[in-house]
Amino acid sequence: MAIPIPSRQLFINGDWAEPLLKKRIPIINPTTEEIIGDIPAATAEDVDVAVQAARSALTRNKGKDWAFASGAVRAKYLRAIAAKDDVIGCFEYYADLAEGLDAKQKAPISLPMKTFKSYVIREPIGVVALIVPWNYPLLMATWKVAPALAAGCAAILKPSELASVTCLELGEVCREVDLPAGVLNILPGLGPEAGASLASHPHVDKISFTGSTVTAVKIMTAAAQRVKPVTLELGGKGPIVVFEDVDIDKAVEWTIFGCFYTNGQICSATSRLIVHESIAAEFLDRLVKWSENIKISDPLEEGCKLGPIVSSGQYEKVMNFISNAKGEGATILYGGNRPKHLKKGFFVEPTIITDVTTSMQIWREEVFGPVLCVKTFTTEEEAIELANDTHYGLGGAVVSKDRERCDRVSKLLQNGAVWVNCSQPCFCQAPFGGTKWSGFGRELGEWGLESYLSVKQVTEYV
Ligand code: NAD
Repeated sequence: MAIPIPSRQLFINGDWAEPLLKKRIPIINPTTEEIIGDIPAATAEDVDVAVQAARSALTRNKGKDWAFASGAVRAKYLRAIAAKDDVIGCFEYYADLAEGLDAKQKAPISLPMKTFKSYVIREPIGVVALIVPWNYPLLMATWKVAPALAAGCAAILKPSELASVTCLELGEVCREVDLPAGVLNILPGLGPEAGASLASHPHVDKISFTGSTVTAVKIMTAAAQRVKPVTLELGGKGPIVVFEDVDIDKAVEWTIFGCFYTNGQICSATSRLIVHESIAAEFLDRLVKWSENIKISDPLEEGCKLGPIVSSGQYEKVMNFISNAKGEGATILYGGNRPKHLKKGFFVEPTIITDVTTSMQIWREEVFGPVLCVKTFTTEEEAIELANDTHYGLGGAVVSKDRERCDRVSKLLQNGAVWVNCSQPCFCQAPFGGTKWSGFGRELGEWGLESYLSVKQVTEYV
């Protein structure tokens, strides 16, 4: 049964507002390829109005109602949002941290001279642009909105043009809880239009971006013109290193989950399997058996395990990766095609690719689809070298029963997140982010809150 899609406008200054140029973008159901609704498309003119609304939310009443309100006041709104929303945990967590912030204000600093006294104040950075991608649209937005509001910032959220509906519903929640007008504005729209206008806007004080490395370069370039801080959560090409001492069935399960979960459309997907050669044949055999049992269907159908890729463009991209891999001499051990039983929709079979070399595109570039490439190793050193043989550094996993080995490998992996005997679990208490081309700065945990705060020291002559 189709889920009805509410028709929404932009969310600006606490209410719904039609885009000034009245533009809209169609929503295409990736299962049926049919248009099922549309979203408003913000342009530079709307960005201007929203930035002004955010700025006045910070300065209104001398900022008393948001930027200089106590953390406890902000926590009240975050809890009210949490009570209505399905990303509850993250809002509740940052409500706690907002309250905790009050106790940290004016923390004294010990100085070597008694004639001076210093303390530190943590202040909101100001108006922040939060630009998010289409995979996990509401979750990626929440990872930014909750800490930004907890810090006392006013925000403009720019969801992806491919997945804005759930983010827009957050606007309705903000209305219901009477969040002060302008504190959160939601502007869907095209990246090069709404996104680029936000990134270069003179009154935006910080940009927090989650998306591709290619777009991140554009955002950094725009931010550099006004020396704006940026937090960048980008792509990945994560390794999962499987040693010879594992319980093979469990390791296969985590390998499948780490690469095919959400169709591989996860930045931290562990899409490069690096498996010890002594167990490789049996491991691949069981991987194939598992893959054969993955039900591919309309996600609304009971028992569905793999739905469609998000869009036709992304589908073409994934298929091109697979055919390039074949062209470069790799073997498609399993999958590689559109499933025969589905005539419509952007579906791709879970795909396992062997005979891969480290110079192949399939080893080096992020596919963002259900595609696993495989290499074998003999020594631990070789495994680590293969795992780190990438420009990316987001998530990585190690699977072994040897505790000390797991600790050693975890330390040597060049990733912002390392999973031991699992892949992908994520908690809002723990920091998340990457190294190398996967970006910098951290979201979640107290690190997420700090990224929206500016530190001021006050020193007094006594
Ligand atoms: P994308 O870079 O194409 O778009 C991301 C957002 O940026 C969208 O809202 C888009 O409209 C906007 N945008 C596009 N061009 C812009 C421009 N010139 N200026 C400003 N904004 C612009 O990425 P995507 O295809 O939506 O998402 C997939 C990518 O996101 C993958 O590379 C994935 O790995 C990455 N991702 C990373 C994380 C993480 O936490 N590290 C999480 C999810 C996704």
